Amino acid sequence: MSDATTIVLFRDDLRLNDHPALTAAMDRRGRIIFVFVLDDDAPGDWKPGGASRWWLHHSLASLQSDIAARGGRLVLRRGATAKVLSKLVDETNATEVLVSRAYEPWAMRLEKELNDILAGGDIKLRRFAGRLLHDPDKLETQAGGFYKVYTPFWRAMSKTDIRRPTDAPKSLKRATTEIPGDDLDDWALLPTKPNWARGFEDVWTPGETAARQRLREFLDQDVASYGTNRDRPDLPATSRLSPHLHFGEISSATCWRAARAHAANHPEADAGVETFLKELAWRDFSYHLLFHSPTLPDAPFRDEFGRFQWADDDEMLACWQAGRTGYPIVDAGMRELWATGWMHNRVRMIVASFLTKDLLITWQHGERWFWDCLVDADLASNAASWQWVAGCGADAAPYFRIFNPVTQSRKFDPKAEYIKRWVPELSQLPPQLAHAPWEADDEELCRAGIALGKDYPRPVVNHAAARKIALSLYDDLK
Ligand code: FAD
Repeated sequence: MSDATTIVLFRDDLRLNDHPALTAAMDRRGRIIFVFVLDDDAPGDWKPGGASRWWLHHSLASLQSDIAARGGRLVLRRGATAKVLSKLVDETNATEVLVSRAYEPWAMRLEKELNDILAGGDIKLRRFAGRLLHDPDKLETQAGGFYKVYTPFWRAMSKTDIRRPTDAPKSLKRATTEIPGDDLDDWALLPTKPNWARGFEDVWTPGETAARQRLREFLDQDVASYGTNRDRPDLPATSRLSPHLHFGEISSATCWRAARAHAANHPEADAGVETFLKELAWRDFSYHLLFHSPTLPDAPFRDEFGRFQWADDDEMLACWQAGRTGYPIVDAGMRELWATGWMHNRVRMIVASFLTKDLLITWQHGERWFWDCLVDADLASNAASWQWVAGCGADAAPYFRIFNPVTQSRKFDPKAEYIKRWVPELSQLPPQLAHAPWEADDEELCRAGIALGKDYPRPVVNHAAARKIALSLYDDLK
């Protein structure tokens, strides 16, 4: 045990429970300094987008008050992390800096830079695994490589032990400090002119307490039917834990363990829990891919896609972004995204397929738009998922899998309730026609009070024709 000062650097681990770096700091004697650094330079092109900044503001406010309730304080600083940290070390005579490991390529570079700078002053940087179920460098194939296919990854992963989460410290009085820090409001993370995030407040409560409550509610109410209902965007069937997980307000180990414990007491929920765990494992798989293939956010995993002739069509891209493609399920998804910072997984796949295969616009434009609009924007999951849908990723959907937006919406939104929620222009159409308003005749449209092309767009492409073109272009790659 040492009496020296320890710094805990918070990043995407904005919680007090199951926080290995925090636990290690509590095991040392002496003063603890909690710091969060807003560093917009280190991520380069991948600094948090608008919706993430909204979440970050509220999540930090929540962490500040959770720490204050235990007698401690979170210091906020802004600037290049390595510089800010070395200055803080000088100011406080800290001897150790503790941090949760991150896996974004820029964050790993930063850890190395920080390590080198601190080592020069004889200060230790200690890194702890806490973000994932498994460190991406711990699992390897029998041949000694990394997994490129999900199923064997899942098989290997599900056999290993998942860490037992620790409880939040009861007191953080050792983390009280007079060291100056910024005022959160001065960071201006929230949009003001205009406040486009107004709708987010009705849907989300960022912070650790809300994350834990969300998990509890999901397990008590929805996990038993998760296996059958998770593809239905009209139902509140999935956990909606993704932003909480991204910002580390709850750990995936906590979710994993709680879900397993729930299944042990509720055998009827066993199948739903198993499916939920497999989804959590997709998150780990995405990080596994990013760790071993750091260009994943910027370049196709499969080299041949570097030659693909994507369309350069700003007008179509704008229609897609605004939810004005004339395909109701696509437009509903894009409008849900804009209004709430989130979109249902099935609809994410449909809109991504539409962008890349019907409009032939590169997945990178979609990835960027999601990055800016999603409250759960996550470098690993976003890049891996976009590449999966576009067909250029590891273990990707085969190129000939082109989602038919009408078939998909009839299957997964049978009463068109999701569509009508987000595309209210179509609310008076019978469900069958709300999926494909161009199939309605003049009388039906008139009864529903819609003039196609005026109140709601006609389809910007013909899906059947677009599909044929996409297939031939993808064929040329073979
Ligand atoms: P649940 O169904 O309740 O799943 C539980 C958790 O498992 C999720 O919170 C998430 O952390 C993880 N998970 C579920 N599905 C996936 C998946 N396919 N890949 C990785 N993790 C998964 N997810 C993000 O967290 N951030 C992103 O930026 C992101 N971008 C995506 C982009 C596209 C084009 C697609 C098709 C999917 C993307 N996903 C992303 C994955 C998935 O859509 C979301 O994780 C999920 O919809 C979140 O809702 P939920 O929390 O209710 O999920």
